[in-house]
Amino acid sequence: MPLAMSDAAPLMLFNSLTRKIEAFRPVHDGEARVYTCGPTVYNYPHIGNMRAYVFADVLGRTLSWKGYKLTHVINITDVGHLTDDADAGEDKLEKAAKEKAQSIWDIAKHYTEAFWSDIEALNIRQPAHWSVATDYVPQMIEFAKAIAPEHCYELESGLYFDVSTVADYGRLARAITDEGESRIEAVEGKRNAADFAIWRKTPSGETRQMEWDSPWGRGAPGWHLECSVMGEALLGFPFDIHTGGIDHREIHHPNEIAQNQAFCHSDASGANIWMHNNFLVERTGKMSKSAGEFLRLQLLIDKGYHPLAYRLMCLQAHYRSELEFSWEGLGAALTRLKRMVISVSRFADNASPLGPDQMALIPDDTIDQATLSSVRIGETLKLSDKVKELWDKFDSSLSDDLNSAVAITVLEEVVALPNVHNLIRREVVDRFDQVLGLGLTGLTRADLRIRPKDAAITEAEIETALERRKAARAEKDFATSDAIRDELAAKGVEVMDGDPLGWEWRLG
Ligand code: AMP
Ligand code: ZN
Repeated sequence: MPLAMSDAAPLMLFNSLTRKIEAFRPVHDGEARVYTCGPTVYNYPHIGNMRAYVFADVLGRTLSWKGYKLTHVINITDVGHLTDDADAGEDKLEKAAKEKAQSIWDIAKHYTEAFWSDIEALNIRQPAHWSVATDYVPQMIEFAKAIAPEHCYELESGLYFDVSTVADYGRLARAITDEGESRIEAVEGKRNAADFAIWRKTPSGETRQMEWDSPWGRGAPGWHLECSVMGEALLGFPFDIHTGGIDHREIHHPNEIAQNQAFCHSDASGANIWMHNNFLVERTGKMSKSAGEFLRLQLLIDKGYHPLAYRLMCLQAHYRSELEFSWEGLGAALTRLKRMVISVSRFADNASPLGPDQMALIPDDTIDQATLSSVRIGETLKLSDKVKELWDKFDSSLSDDLNSAVAITVLEEVVALPNVHNLIRREVVDRFDQVLGLGLTGLTRADLRIRPKDAAITEAEIETALERRKAARAEKDFATSDAIRDELAAKGVEVMDGDPLGWEWRLG
């Protein structure tokens, strides 16, 4: 039985294709099938890339909260993504392999693992499938063979898709701008500027590390083809939702749609709803992977920030708004997370079983059996009006095109509500956090201390110094106490006497 109540708000999502907020209506009853364009694994992901997966994760968690059985696919692009969208550039992985004089497969493995480690650190749930592009090359060739006679033509450099053969090419891009079709014609002989490579032939006399035989010569698949094929193979057309960053609205997704139309002999796009997260921006160019030290999650961690502070920072903004990264903003998110964790730990620690007079929560038709047993109460639970009101508000904020910013404030309201039994409060917070994924009940205050990697002092040394200082103060030896404080300050430790959050000290 779905967790969501029978009178829950319908899930409304912004469809980039129609530019409208639409009610989610699953293709298959009770199921939600979602495809998310994955990373190109030629380098580490930057935190902007990770915003795309935090967004897709919140979408998936919301679908689960609503009671849908979720099948989520995220691909790994290990071949086919060129350095230039106009089909003229090199394969990003081939280029990285050449520069580093390494095997492409090693490069792909290394950066896929780095990406997965960021996925884990950000508490992003594992999808049902991580589909790796190079595992699907035979299916890609079959797909291309099926669409080639009516929709493709061959040039010296490979097989190209003729965008004039499908109805309304580029409608997705036109949803925001007309620029989609004004690209430079970089490949000689293309019939339309927007035509794109389905199969890229290896130029004669060259060999690529990744290449396969095909009816169009030895070579490699085009990037757009990969996502169409993996989406179809794992989810079937049409599936429910296709997601990606907003840059994909311009070229990658219009091209996927064109292929899907060709494959299905239909004008339909292959997915009912196309959703796009807006960009994380950073004014000084630190997001660019070519700019030396760029904003990787590991950099945030090395500077002492817990990765879930970054997740909260993303969730505080609507996914369709541009979000500007700043260290101050990240610091503010960390402080907010600390406050939540401290409050939650207060009531989680002393959650004693309910007494008979406290069974005033959750109307029984609103909560499933699993919830009842998880609070270990044999009798009917009823949510007080106030908690029920917040429960509904949480549900309706997420149902309103994933308004996580409001949902977080509702969680904070539950945390602060007077006269609610701790067991119920904890249960409701747990339930809310299953959607937000902030790890509130698993984190401790100490996890959230700022701890830069290059600090000149360890935490144990700080704690020992503070113990000595405490002892000195107890003996009214303020000279020693001040000296210890100064010593710590010289090593970058700020002693925080009287801090309202009880942090005691901060590094960096
Ligand atoms: P890539 O590895 O370049 O294919 O990108 C992986 C995902 O990150 C794609 O969905 C992109 O649209 C998305 N993306 C790229 N840059 C940003 C950014 N600055 N903010 C948010 N999403 C981004
Ligand atoms: Zn894709």
